Amino acid sequence: MAKKITPELSTTFAEYILLPGLTDSTNTPENISLRTPLTKFKTGEEPKISLNLPFTSAVMQAVSGHKMGIALAKEGGLSFIFTSQTIKNQAEMVAKVKNFKAGFVNSKANLSPENTLEDALKLTDETGYSTIAITRDGQNNSELMGILTKQDYWLDYEPLTTPLGQLMTPFEKINHGLEGITLPEANEILRKSKKSCIPIINNESERILKALVFKKDREKHKDFPDELIDEQKRIIAGAGINSKDYVERVPALVSAGADVLVIDTSDGWNQYVGDALKWIKTNYPNIPCGAGNIVSAEAFDYLVSAGADFVKVGIGGGSICITQEVKGIGRGQASALLDIVSARDKYFDSTGIYVPICSDGGLVQDSHITIALALGADFVMMGRYFARCDESPTEKKILNHFGLAKPYWGEGSDRAKNWQRYGQENGNIKFEEGVDGWVPYAGPVKDIVRRSGTVIKSTLSNLGCNNLKELHERAVLEKRSPTSMREGKPHDIQIGADNMDAYKKMYWGE
Ligand code: IMP
Repeated sequence: MAKKITPELSTTFAEYILLPGLTDSTNTPENISLRTPLTKFKTGEEPKISLNLPFTSAVMQAVSGHKMGIALAKEGGLSFIFTSQTIKNQAEMVAKVKNFKAGFVNSKANLSPENTLEDALKLTDETGYSTIAITRDGQNNSELMGILTKQDYWLDYEPLTTPLGQLMTPFEKINHGLEGITLPEANEILRKSKKSCIPIINNESERILKALVFKKDREKHKDFPDELIDEQKRIIAGAGINSKDYVERVPALVSAGADVLVIDTSDGWNQYVGDALKWIKTNYPNIPCGAGNIVSAEAFDYLVSAGADFVKVGIGGGSICITQEVKGIGRGQASALLDIVSARDKYFDSTGIYVPICSDGGLVQDSHITIALALGADFVMMGRYFARCDESPTEKKILNHFGLAKPYWGEGSDRAKNWQRYGQENGNIKFEEGVDGWVPYAGPVKDIVRRSGTVIKSTLSNLGCNNLKELHERAVLEKRSPTSMREGKPHDIQIGADNMDAYKKMYWGE
């Protein structure tokens, strides 16, 4: 006989309903914050990283490339760049996210005063940058002599052989900032200068070029008030890792700029995952690292004792997942969360350390996200949701019966596993734990996450909560019977042909 057989049914989000709480005049959208911790912290301290939007994108080939990393961080969430690719490719993607312009930009077009106008035109042609920093030796991080923009020369007048030293606006005539100033301070100098760009130098005597600040970036930045950025105003980059090649992969990702890692496995209650965590904590103590996936309190204790900075919960609930069918393992996502949340709360009571929980997989409606958060998750991870966006690394296509769609496949499908050498080298018999399919195209990340964020804030207002901590403390949930679930959807009404299309689209994938 099995060690334990639980008569309780495994439950998931749609089986719970939130009961309204007293809404008061403070529960307005401007007052409601979705900020949430990403990494563990002690009572009285701040987490090393917090999200401004409790969304992360799944560590999957069809979801989290560099475009997703940039788009989601601009909205306050975080992508974990997929790990089922070569170390070099993944590190390049992380670097692209990290180097995305978020205020202070490393000058990427540099020449020396001895270079000619022809060199400048060629560089602009190659790089697309028309603002060129003129430094003593033509390199970045060298003494700044001046700046060259299109305003500094007339092509039909100046010979192509003219040295840039004669054309550039010299340093003395340029407003500049000193290293260490904040972005608002730099923007104020920029505004007063009435120019499109100002340089930032290390100090007045050496004048080493450290960064450029552009007016057009500020205008873009204003659109993204929740942007997730580090102290140097660079976008925060996350990356997935596996429990096999971390000794080589982690150093490459960290030097590419990864701020936070997650060990992404289908069953994280695993000695290899524990060993990987311990290795990272010893060798990279400043890089937070989460781990998963798990579904039980015992697995939580195991990962936290190995050093996990957050845990990822969910086995078998993903939209592309066939693990429960194939192997008969997993757990209803709500049951898994409830078990792990109570272990986390116990751990907090005994140590004063709060370990954030990520609810990963199976989220279809915005209501599911709020319910996951109300059950005690601090943030969610979604694959299907983000695979539908412009910024996922796939091409959209018109499918006859669905309209515009994007491909989406599991990391455990043959399609994703093709890159791997593991297993193939050993000649193992392989089987799939994921499927390969299509999801309806949904537009840019910005549009869908802002809509979801608005819906979630509106729900928090119904519950009388202004933040996710209050949601954890005040949410009241009730289980739903199948009949009540049916009652909660449109029923006993003939939906018109047009509306039926809209309705099907809304629920497509459920
Ligand atoms: P979704 O948001 O419901 O699409 O679920 C995404 C999650 O499913 C991921 O974050 C993974 O935890 C999980 N997942 C990804 N690929 C597979 C697979 O091939 N089999 C099982 N689970 C998967």
